[in-house]
Amino acid sequence: MSTNENSGTLGGNGVDVSKTTKARGHKDHGREENPTLELFSGFIKLHVLHHASERPVYGLWLIEELEEHGYRVSPGTLYPLLHSMEEAEMLKSYNELYAGKIRRYYKITPAGRRLLKQAKLQIIELMSEMLTKEEFDRLRSSLKELTT
Ligand SMILES: [Zn+2]
Repeated sequence: MSTNENSGTLGGNGVDVSKTTKARGHKDHGREENPTLELFSGFIKLHVLHHASERPVYGLWLIEELEEHGYRVSPGTLYPLLHSMEEAEMLKSYNELYAGKIRRYYKITPAGRRLLKQAKLQIIELMSEMLTKEEFDRLRSSLKELTT
């Protein structure tokens, strides 16, 4: 778990959401808390929705993809997220045989597509508030085509 001292893959700029700590609560047996994950899980889910909107995706591929974008996500973090997205009917999973092994793929649902579209608008809204006007204007011109 925390034996990995090599945090160089993310160049120090990434977000490690793979660590979970046992909840300190008394009755919450087995529940895990990670404030970083709680904050970024929405971003991670949006990554997943975005890619699932292009083609079916699977866990290992997503872990590598997310790492490229600065999120270190362990399977133990990702799969519950995928599961909750399927429960919420944003994704639908199915099994397929790949190289002699069963691989679980996730594809986006129509409801997931609608949420993704809403999310794009909300991302722009959030960025418009967080970035300076100059930063935002530069981004807005490149993002315009996404929302039309
Ligand atoms: Zn991505």
